[in-house]
Amino acid sequence: MSTPASRHHKRPRGEGQWALGYREPLNKNEELKKNDDGLNVRQRIIDVYSKRGFDSIDPADLRGRMRWYGIYTQRRPGIDGGKTAILEPEELDDRYFMMRIRIDGGQLDLRQLRVIADLSNEYGRGTADVTDRQNIQLHWIEIESVPDIWQRLEAVGLSTTEACGDTPRTILGCPLAGIEEDEVLDATEQIREIHERYIGDPAYSNLPRKFKTALSGCPSHCTVHEINDVAFVGVVNERGEKGYDLWVGGGLSTNPMLGKRLGVFVAPEQAGDVFGGVIGIFRDYGYRRLRHRARLKFLMNDWGPEKFREVLETEYLKEPLPDGPAPEQPRANRRDHVGVFRQKDGRFYVGFAPRVGRLSGDQLHLIADIAERHGSGRVRTTVEQKMVILDVAPERVDSLVAELEANDLRVKPSTFRRQTMACTGIEFCKLAIVDTKNTADNLIDELERRLPEFTEPLTINVNGCPNSCARIQTADIGLKGQLVLDENGKQVEGFQIHLGGSLGVNSGFGRKVRGLKTTAAALPDYVERVARHFDEQKKEGETFAD
Ligand code: SF4
Repeated sequence: MSTPASRHHKRPRGEGQWALGYREPLNKNEELKKNDDGLNVRQRIIDVYSKRGFDSIDPADLRGRMRWYGIYTQRRPGIDGGKTAILEPEELDDRYFMMRIRIDGGQLDLRQLRVIADLSNEYGRGTADVTDRQNIQLHWIEIESVPDIWQRLEAVGLSTTEACGDTPRTILGCPLAGIEEDEVLDATEQIREIHERYIGDPAYSNLPRKFKTALSGCPSHCTVHEINDVAFVGVVNERGEKGYDLWVGGGLSTNPMLGKRLGVFVAPEQAGDVFGGVIGIFRDYGYRRLRHRARLKFLMNDWGPEKFREVLETEYLKEPLPDGPAPEQPRANRRDHVGVFRQKDGRFYVGFAPRVGRLSGDQLHLIADIAERHGSGRVRTTVEQKMVILDVAPERVDSLVAELEANDLRVKPSTFRRQTMACTGIEFCKLAIVDTKNTADNLIDELERRLPEFTEPLTINVNGCPNSCARIQTADIGLKGQLVLDENGKQVEGFQIHLGGSLGVNSGFGRKVRGLKTTAAALPDYVERVARHFDEQKKEGETFAD
């Protein structure tokens, strides 16, 4: 017989799922969202904060709701990584902001690119980083300039709405949608529809946590669908119809999980509704009690794909979805679209590699000018911190490539330039423990000098903390920033090493090699050793992940 105490013990603890009646905010973040929707901060920024200045900003807006518009305070310069976990948020806050401009599908025309370039130069001290989710991030933004920035972005169809926060973030899409010779389908219209229907809609602006989306028919699977909360992957079913295979519940960070296939076929015209269903399930059934268990992957982990599909069909779509095939294996191991390739209309696209995504306002202007001089009106950002110029006539390709190369925008980069990514790191990020961009930049230089003949694919992802913004677990060499001891026992910047992660044919997460750490200073030596060893030992056709 159960006693009252044991009955109490057995009562299932709510995970903060709205649909099961757990409405009471159970943590600070949930309380903040309940008190006032993140989207409402826009008017306060325009009417009050931009006029009265930084000190007038309500702390709950400053460190919470402003994210709903892609705005974070950046890290105060000079605070070392050892203090990251110790200091109070206000001690880490600078009076300047990082601002993320969302570029859904990575699609930009030259007018838009030039507006971003101007804003970078006028308000961002020339900073402009291409992120691994196709956004462009500016730094050093002052609150006073935000309304003007928004106005100018919005005049060309861009925005920062829901670029951060517990919201549907930027929708990834293949930069070559509509032009790739052997694409499965062009997802541009579905990206546009989903953006129009859901972004900025208060019905979906209070999610348990961030929500990442990818939609693509790219034969190289360039949108890393396996690690998004929801991904629509182009397929052709047995009747020859084009549509999407649906993946749900992927994500990295500290508990990495690959998305699961629901096994359904989504016709392009249903994609908007299906997206609404998945995001609706997340909003209603997602876990809100513990912040670190709030991503959709935890619900998927508990439910499994069968239950998720059943709830999606019965409660949200009110109709079953047909079964569908899995995607073909990706065409190539490299998903970055760097190089010169033919489009289906006979023209060419040219992908190039800036250094770890770091560009400047002047360089964005230069890219727009080079594209225009060569008859192109469109550029794209990729999910590998790269860019692509589209629609180049065959006779103009050589000159365009030469101009890009002459400006250190490499169309034929070394493996190291091409496949090294770095997150924002200690320069601007308040969660960072170590520097990333400069470390990675230096690493590329060193490896190019030491290993000029090395041509094997080898991905190196440099992260400033365990949050894995630059995908620690999916790189051949994944680096997680932490403080380590050098040979003199002194605490210095360094990395925990994860080896052998990959997406694509043999998806799998890199293994943390117990005790395998390096100081930042010794990183080039470490990677050189690993690369040489791999080059000497590899068998025919073997990749690093094998
Ligand atoms: Fe900041 Fe960490 Fe993300 Fe890097 S991985 S951008 S340091 S939160």
